Amino acid sequence: MVQQFYRDTWAEVDLNAIKYNVKQIKKVYPLPKSVYAVVKANAYGHGDVQVAKAALEAGADKLAVALLDEGLRLRESFPNVPILVLGRIRPSDAQIAADHDLTVTVFQKEWVMEASKHLTSKLNIHIKFDTGMNRLGIRTKEEAYDVLKELKSTTMVVTGIYSHLATADENNEPHLAKQFELFKESVKLLQDNVPNKIEVHLGNSAGAMRFPDSMYDAVRFGIGMYGLYPSQLVKLETGIPLKPAFSLMSQLTHVKKINKGDTISYGATYTAEEDEWIGTVPLGYGDGWIRKLQGFHVLIDGKKYPIVGRICMDQFMVKLDQPKPIDTKVVIIGEYGDETVSTDDVATHLETINYEIPCMINERVPRVYI
Ligand code: PLP
Repeated sequence: MVQQFYRDTWAEVDLNAIKYNVKQIKKVYPLPKSVYAVVKANAYGHGDVQVAKAALEAGADKLAVALLDEGLRLRESFPNVPILVLGRIRPSDAQIAADHDLTVTVFQKEWVMEASKHLTSKLNIHIKFDTGMNRLGIRTKEEAYDVLKELKSTTMVVTGIYSHLATADENNEPHLAKQFELFKESVKLLQDNVPNKIEVHLGNSAGAMRFPDSMYDAVRFGIGMYGLYPSQLVKLETGIPLKPAFSLMSQLTHVKKINKGDTISYGATYTAEEDEWIGTVPLGYGDGWIRKLQGFHVLIDGKKYPIVGRICMDQFMVKLDQPKPIDTKVVIIGEYGDETVSTDDVATHLETINYEIPCMINERVPRVYI
């Protein structure tokens, strides 16, 4: 399919990098262990179907998403791949999940009671335990027994159990140890009470990369698949090589000389200290390139240039050191010559985590697959 768009800004997604990263984790978790490619939120902004296809080709075994809508979308392209929905779906939608052979996450007795009213065929479920994240999941044995009791009279089949680690990317041994311990107890409880074999999984990228001996049957590989480390600790401690898949490109649409004392953009927050060359880049907060990125930099001809003045909805300005031709390539995230602006650099400037960066570049920026 030819990707057609008419603007001078686009994101490049390197599907070979996705494949490389999946192969790295598959080395640690070969069959019979499974790797879930976590492709929620449009594959962390990279493009769900394209990433899922690449991940599966490289050896990922299953897919995980957050929403029923995301699962349904992927089911159209992948009729036979197991897909797990990690979030809570509405009980009234249980039959829709069953009709599309999506596995859903269950942790509430009331949910089971309500969903069973809407369910006329088999629905595979994974039971989620809350072992310390305090987001979703069963917290006590009593709750677990209540859920299991309710399940008996339904067409739901427990095919898995999982939990989510809150601090796997940090040095927080006590919290982690507590989660491991509680999960072990939860697994035993479930295995003692469910007749069929169930898949057991606990780790996200950080857990999968740091604690391979504690990961049971499967891991849920998200951020690492996109070539980003959950934290510096994970990078340094594991040494598992990953390749970033996301870069962001643009081209100069205008270049001009301004005079000493002239100001740039809304609010006139930047004043030229001398005569200066200014380039305009067609990317703005309407694309997710938010105003807080004023003062950050981009790469042109392998050199860093600062973003000056306020970022507008569709454009921002950079201070150049010489005139550059219109259409000169601008690397906003990625490599250019010996220089790199990484997703981590953007995250550091924004005082956030790398996860947020490709997610925040919205669908107005076309994704090009290389
Ligand atoms: N499992 C669950 C339940 C999640 O919510 C997420 C993402 O937030 C993941 C796995 C993947 O985590 P990561 O991207 O850190 O690998």
